[in-house]
Amino acid sequence: MNLIIGSHVSFTNKTQLVGSVNEAISYGANTFMFYTGSTQSTQRSEIDDNLTYEAYKLMVDNGINSDNVIVHAPYIINLANRASDDKFMFYVNFLAEELSRVKSLGFNKMVLHPGSAVNCSREEGLKNIIDGLNLAFEKSSDTVILLETMAGKGNELGTNIDEIKTIIDGIHDKSRIGVCLDTCHLNDSGIDINEFDNYLDLFDKEIGIEMIKCVHVNDSMNPIGSHKDRHQNIGYGTIGFDALNKVVHNERLEGIPFILETPWVNRNKDDEYPPYKFEIDNFRKEKFIDFIQ
Ligand code: FE
Ligand code: FE
Ligand code: ZN
Repeated sequence: MNLIIGSHVSFTNKTQLVGSVNEAISYGANTFMFYTGSTQSTQRSEIDDNLTYEAYKLMVDNGINSDNVIVHAPYIINLANRASDDKFMFYVNFLAEELSRVKSLGFNKMVLHPGSAVNCSREEGLKNIIDGLNLAFEKSSDTVILLETMAGKGNELGTNIDEIKTIIDGIHDKSRIGVCLDTCHLNDSGIDINEFDNYLDLFDKEIGIEMIKCVHVNDSMNPIGSHKDRHQNIGYGTIGFDALNKVVHNERLEGIPFILETPWVNRNKDDEYPPYKFEIDNFRKEKFIDFIQ
């Protein structure tokens, strides 16, 4: 089976998508994920179509299919927060702009953290998310939002199958919605990744396995159910290489992109390196080779 695997890469004003693609290629990846700009602000640079064109040539030459590329929505968007209508509509409009930006870059999937229930109950928060998504879909076209399964840090929503299902059930245009599993978040929310097939069974029964369009592959620094959300390098955390390797090679998820969001390795401040080439290699060979020592 042809593994589709890559990592989070950077996207800068200067090189835009060309830089992202080159970074992915340097890791031996055949897909990647990026943010269109700062995760904490609405500042966005103008997309340079020449750079996009150049990036697509690079992607074709290196076997990267644009259908497998994932964009991550900025963290500042919290559709669950409807403390004021102004704020809520600011989130909706920015999300709709991001969805359009994804489309103008030629991609079709954006991962979103569902939201956090601040100033409201979880039920109200979920309802706000549904309203926000339906509005953002009306204000944009085509781009699909993948709801990310969350660790349950603070008041995060989307921390179990029920909450994800509630949101999906409320979406008018089901062609615009899907799910992105995150193995660190699942572990931290209370799911044992060693029993991943049981989780998939339940997910399939409640939501439908075909709604899973992406998996974030991360080890975790913390035990099952800790609700912490601290990613660890593959094979160096509490989930371990074998359980994660089985996720990546699970036949039921064949053909979907797997994205690493593990931390850079630093021995000391001036000696930092990305782990992705090694992690991708280990998954391809299905053998854990220590790359930190
Ligand atoms: Fe995320
Ligand atoms: Fe993630
Ligand atoms: Zn996370």
